[in-house]
Amino acid sequence: GHPMTDWPRLIRDTPDFPSPGVLFKDIMPVLADAEAFAAAIDALAAPWRDARLDAVLAIESRGFLLGAPLAQALGVGLVPLRKPGKLPGAVVEQRYALEYGEDRLQMQAGILPAGARVLLVDDVLATGGTLLAARTLAQRLGLDVVGAGVLLEIVALAGRARWGTDLPLRAACMV
Ligand code: 5GP
Repeated sequence: GHPMTDWPRLIRDTPDFPSPGVLFKDIMPVLADAEAFAAAIDALAAPWRDARLDAVLAIESRGFLLGAPLAQALGVGLVPLRKPGKLPGAVVEQRYALEYGEDRLQMQAGILPAGARVLLVDDVLATGGTLLAARTLAQRLGLDVVGAGVLLEIVALAGRARWGTDLPLRAACMV
């Protein structure tokens, strides 16, 4: 196993994925190691233990892998924010721009009451567009976004500047 503090070392640089010139940070080796996974979830949970949350909002798809154990660790519910066409029933949709083209996130309408205190979770903060779209979507549904948590913040991509300073954004590790 790995010492608790060593889990960020398991994040692996993968050049030219998913396309040439991109250096992808692969978090899967953290999840593959029981001790590292537990330590990472503990680090994700630590800033929010006294936040009186009602639910974790997890972003498809690696956000799901972290959001579920995080929600359990914090003793709160879990709600997925999904790509279009995955969720049954009435949904609310948020579009957001990518470097090339656009993407969309959907959340089930009425799955949480207005005013519910929610934490957004994803694996990696890069440019911040995804997390910002998730925040807008949650706020359009009347939810009280308490903040956001990510396993890894890629500081050079300046997602934090885009997120702004009015709500806390906590990264379990940075590169
Ligand atoms: P952003 O919207 O902040 O530019 O990109 C964040 C989203 O893209 C997250 O949902 C994250 O899963 C994914 N992403 C972007 N770059 C990386 C990366 O290097 N590693 C991983 N694991 N995910 C990434």
